[in-house]
Amino acid sequence: MDEIRISGLKIFAYHGVYARENEQGQDFILHAVMGVSTQHAGLTDDLEASISYEEVCEILQREMKEHTWKLLEAVAEHISIVLFAKYPILQELTLEIEKPDAPIDADFRSVSVRIHRKRHTVYVAYGANEGDCENQIQEGIAAIDRDPCCRVRRMSRPVRSTPYGGVEQKDFYNGVLHMETIYEPMELLQFLQGIEAAQGRDREHAVHWGPRPLDLDILLYDDLVYDSKELVIPHPEMAKRDFVMLPLAEIAPFVRHPLTGRTIREMAEMPMEKHVRK
Ligand code: ATP
Ligand code: CA
Ligand code: CA
Repeated sequence: MDEIRISGLKIFAYHGVYARENEQGQDFILHAVMGVSTQHAGLTDDLEASISYEEVCEILQREMKEHTWKLLEAVAEHISIVLFAKYPILQELTLEIEKPDAPIDADFRSVSVRIHRKRHTVYVAYGANEGDCENQIQEGIAAIDRDPCCRVRRMSRPVRSTPYGGVEQKDFYNGVLHMETIYEPMELLQFLQGIEAAQGRDREHAVHWGPRPLDLDILLYDDLVYDSKELVIPHPEMAKRDFVMLPLAEIAPFVRHPLTGRTIREMAEMPMEKHVRK
């Protein structure tokens, strides 16, 4: 990937854990490496098609001066969110913030925090079968899109299905959305759970697969394979569910499942034991 770099930008600001850092201030040195495709800007000689380093310097200065954080981690994270939200063409960012005069009793040249953030491609399944389903889904998706760390790119048509047998339940509304995010997987899960809760989801008293105002499941996250107690990616049940595979095949037919190596369209068309909604 091409890079636009800013090196050694000195900014006086007031971040730090100690009160005297917040009162007296000190110099910070910033280094930013922005991963973008510069080819179109190169061929057209058009600044609008690229990222202006002058403008980025202004943003860095403004953000560094307008806020006071304790941790360099927080400074870097906040600036990264602002830059990804501002520049849709920004794909990757490495940001280092040095504190050459950090008030610690040691002989050092500089201390710094360097973070690397990336725009990830994620497919999320949504579902609802309690309350005003269409409205909860709409509100939930709008809340995802409003978050500066996320951008909804595309939505499938909604799928409506009627459960049968078992507990009496209303119709299910399902679908899949394609989004971009700079959240790492666990942060994304927590963020989506916050949105479920805002739409009235009560996890403490919920019955598994029972009625819910909003369910948001991470299906695919780039080509990541991840397995922990709280989070499994790709979603382990997705291939068994028509109400996931059909809308996913509509918006991502040629995306490959990282474990089967097959495209979503191939998987959606494969005859296999499908989960029956009870
Ligand atoms: P299913 O995941 O089979 O569709 P569910 O959506 O009804 O079931 P929930 O009660 O919403 O299950 O979530 C149970 C837990 O599943 C969550 O607390 C979360 O930690 C975990 N989980 C694991 N992998 C994922 C994933 N890919 N997306 C969302 N949640 C996940
Ligand atoms: Ca689910
Ligand atoms: Ca879920």
